[in-house]
Amino acid sequence: MAKHEFQTEVGQLLKLMTHSLYSNKEIFIRELVSNASDAIDKLEYLKLTDEKLKGFETTPQINIKIDEADKSITIADNGIGMNEEELISSIGTIAKSGTKSFVEAMSGDAKKDSNLIGQFGVGFYSVFMVADKVDVISKKAGEDQAYKWSSDGTGSFDLDPVTKDESGTVIYIKMKDDEVSEFVSKYRIETIVKKYSNHIPFPIFLNYSEEVTEELSEEDKKAGKEAKKSMENKREQANEATALWRQPKAKLKADDYNEFYKTISHDSSDPMAHVHTKVEGVSEYTTLFYIPKKAPMDMYRVDFQPGVKLYVKRVFITDDEKELLPTYLRFIKGIIDSEDLPLNVSRELLQENKVMANIKQSSIKKILSEIKKLSKNEEKYVDFIAEYNRPLKEGVYQDNMNKDAILELVRYKSTNDKDKMTSLADYKQRAVSSQKAIFYIVGEDERVLRNSPLLESYKKNNIEVLILDDKEIDEVITPSIGAYQDWQLKDVTSCEAPKTEQSEEEAKKVEEEFKSIVEKITGVLGEAVKEVKTTSRLSDSPSCVVKDPNDPMAQMAAMMKSMGQEVPESAPILEINPDHEIVKSLNGCTDDKMIENVSWLLLDQANMAEGIEIKDPVAFVSRLNEVMSKAI
Ligand code: ADP
Repeated sequence: MAKHEFQTEVGQLLKLMTHSLYSNKEIFIRELVSNASDAIDKLEYLKLTDEKLKGFETTPQINIKIDEADKSITIADNGIGMNEEELISSIGTIAKSGTKSFVEAMSGDAKKDSNLIGQFGVGFYSVFMVADKVDVISKKAGEDQAYKWSSDGTGSFDLDPVTKDESGTVIYIKMKDDEVSEFVSKYRIETIVKKYSNHIPFPIFLNYSEEVTEELSEEDKKAGKEAKKSMENKREQANEATALWRQPKAKLKADDYNEFYKTISHDSSDPMAHVHTKVEGVSEYTTLFYIPKKAPMDMYRVDFQPGVKLYVKRVFITDDEKELLPTYLRFIKGIIDSEDLPLNVSRELLQENKVMANIKQSSIKKILSEIKKLSKNEEKYVDFIAEYNRPLKEGVYQDNMNKDAILELVRYKSTNDKDKMTSLADYKQRAVSSQKAIFYIVGEDERVLRNSPLLESYKKNNIEVLILDDKEIDEVITPSIGAYQDWQLKDVTSCEAPKTEQSEEEAKKVEEEFKSIVEKITGVLGEAVKEVKTTSRLSDSPSCVVKDPNDPMAQMAAMMKSMGQEVPESAPILEINPDHEIVKSLNGCTDDKMIENVSWLLLDQANMAEGIEIKDPVAFVSRLNEVMSKAI
C-alpha cells in the first residue's frame, strides 16, 4: 500500500470542512456531479478531436447509487478519468494558489464559507463534510491501469493500482453515521439533483433498491395468504439532461435560470441578473451570461478563474480561456455555444478567429446593455456598483470601442450628495450654466478629499466636484478619460480655479501688493516648492498646494504611474490666500524668524489638508510652538 501525506493546505482545508461547515452540506452532491459532468465533457471533446481517442465508444452518463444497507453513496461517471499522477495532483494537493487565501478567508460563518467552496476550486473536498471515508477509483481514457485513492480526510491518503473495466471515475462515499438518515435516501438525492443539476447535459441515473410487496390474487387473499416482500433494484433518470441554454426562453422560468447558475458558478445565492441570447443568421450562436450578486473572490487576483465556458455545437471546449470576454468583465459567469467554430479550435486560433471576435463584441454589447437596464433601478444599482464599479472603471481604460457606453455606467462620489453616488450624465445636468467641464479630486481618503481647501472656490461658485477616493485606479484612469460628451474631466489640483468676480486688473493689483512676501516665502522654502503665488481659489484656508498642469515632468510622472512604476512626487506650487488674516499680517511682518516659521507652517498645513505626509514633523511642532508662544 502506498501512503501519501496531504499537502499542508489540504490538511487545513479538510479540517475546516469537517469542523466548521455545518449547514448546506447537500452541496457535496452538486460538486461531485459537476466534476463528473466536466470529466465527461472533456472526454467527449477528445473523442472528436484526439487521434488516439477517435472511435472510443461511451454513452455519457452519471450513475448515483444509494445503498442503505451499506450506508454509502457512489457517484460514477464514464468521463476522462484520472491516472496516478493526476490523482495525486488533483486531489492530494491544491494546485491553485487561491486556495491558500480560501483557507484564510474562511470566516467560521457556515453559510458564507460554503459559498466560498466552489469559488476556490476545492469542490471535491466538500465530500468530507458528510463522509467517514472516500474511495476514488479512476481509469484514464486511453490508459490501461486504474488506481484507487482512498482517505478518511485526515492527514493522508492511500493510492494503489486496481482493476477497472470502463474508463472514468467512481467515487464511493462511506457516510458518517449521523448523515446516513438524511442523505442515504433516494428521495433526498433526487431532490438535490433536480435542484442543482437538472440541466447538466448528460443523464444522471439513480440506482437504489426498494422493498416491493407481491400482488396477491383475490383467491390467495381469501385463503389468508401473506404477501411476500422483497427488495428490488430500480434505476431512474433524475434530471432533464438538456443543455439549458439551448431551450427557448419562453420555456424557462426564473428558477430554472437561477439553479443552472448555481451549477456552473458554485455560488449558492441567486444571481443578480442574466441575459440569454440566441443569434441566427450569418453567424449562429447562443450565449447565457450571469452577473453574480457578489463579486467572485478571485476577481483581483492575476490567476483569476474565468467564468465563461465555451461550447461548440454543445460540445464543451474550454473553461480556462481568459479572452472570451475582456478582462474587465471577468466577473461574468456563463456560456458561449457556437455553431460555426471548428471543434478542434486551439487557443491561438481562438484569439485570431473572426467568428469568436464577433461573438465577443456582441457579447460585450449585450452585457453592457443589461447593466444599463439594471441602472434604471437606482436602488438595485447601488448593489451592483458596490461590487463592480471598479472593473467598470478598468473597462473605460481598456475598451476604447465601448468607452462611452461604460462611462454611462460608472458612478462617482461627489460633493453634491455625500450619501449618493452620481453618474456623469446627472452631474452634467446639475451643472451651473457657465460650466463647461467636469471637475474631480483624487486621493485615498474620502474625508480628507471632502475637506480639501482646494474645493473652497468650487463651493463658493456652486460647482460640483467628483470625489475619487479609489486612488490606485482613479489616478491612472481618470486622466485617460479625456472628455465625457465634450466636457473635459479636470483635476482640481492641477487646473485653474473657477473664475470669481475678480477682474484681471484686481488680480494684478493683489499680485503687486504681495510680491515682496511671496519672494520671501519662496526664498525660505527653496526646493520644497516649485513656485509660490497668490490665489483667488481659497476662502477659509490661508494656503493650499496644487500641481502644475503644464509641467512636463508631472505628465511624465502620471504616465509612469499608469504603467505601474514608482515615481517621486514633484514639488508642488504653494498658493496663498491674500484675503486671509494670517497672510495679510505676514505681508506686513518684519520679523524674519516669524516669516520663516509661518512660511513652513503654511506649506505643512496645506500638505496635511491634502492628506500628504509632512517631511519633518518634529520641525513642524517646534515651529508651531514658537509661533504659539509669541501669539500668547
Ligand atoms: P475543481 O473542480 O473546481 O477544479 P475539485 O477539487 O472539485 O476542484 O477537483 C479538482 C480536480 O480533480 C478537477 O479539476 C479535476 O481535474 C479532477 N477531478 C475531480 N473529479 C473528477 C472526475 N470525476 N473525473 C476526472 N477528474 C476529476
